[in-house]
Amino acid sequence: MKQEAFAGQKNIYPVPPQAVLNVDVLLQEVIAQAKTLHIPVSEHIQPHVRINRRATGRFGACFADRRTGTFQIEISDVLLTARRQVCCQTLAHEVLHTCYGCQNHKKRWQQYAERMNCAYGYAIARTDSPERLGVENKRVVRYLVRCGGCGAEIPRARRSRLVEHPEEFCCAKCGGTLTVERVAEQKS
Ligand SMILES: [Zn+2]
Ligand SMILES: [Zn+2]
Repeated sequence: MKQEAFAGQKNIYPVPPQAVLNVDVLLQEVIAQAKTLHIPVSEHIQPHVRINRRATGRFGACFADRRTGTFQIEISDVLLTARRQVCCQTLAHEVLHTCYGCQNHKKRWQQYAERMNCAYGYAIARTDSPERLGVENKRVVRYLVRCGGCGAEIPRARRSRLVEHPEEFCCAKCGGTLTVERVAEQKS
């Protein structure tokens, strides 16, 4: 018995509803934590965290808009389903970049990071890896699900029902049969 994608549904197989962290709320929490330690974070941080859904290899970024004097914080979507503490830690890393003289990872930024780490149990570092954060590495494609009908390719980083039992699914675009290939280990 094959599961068919619902008419009009874009996904190749039904995605179970999943709860994600409300990062805008967490951002305010992290800003308050920094202020408690008298770390001079900017008063002009955009309240809406931008979510990056591409595989850029970075977990967060802080963009300074020189024209408006505001800061936009961005995080990777892999953090939306990460542990709460891990998500806050990345937000904290970026929030510290809004401090005067901290648009880098030099001494001043490092000292603020150390204070946040001591006070809140973070492990803010200059660079992070998926292994360190315990999140999915989006750049690593371990499985490639391919449609024998239209040739559509669906990259997957992890084992899943689809990867283990492609015969239970069919292509949402054309109804074709799916096969899975194991992709040779990639270094990122
Ligand atoms: Zn940084
Ligand atoms: Zn197809």
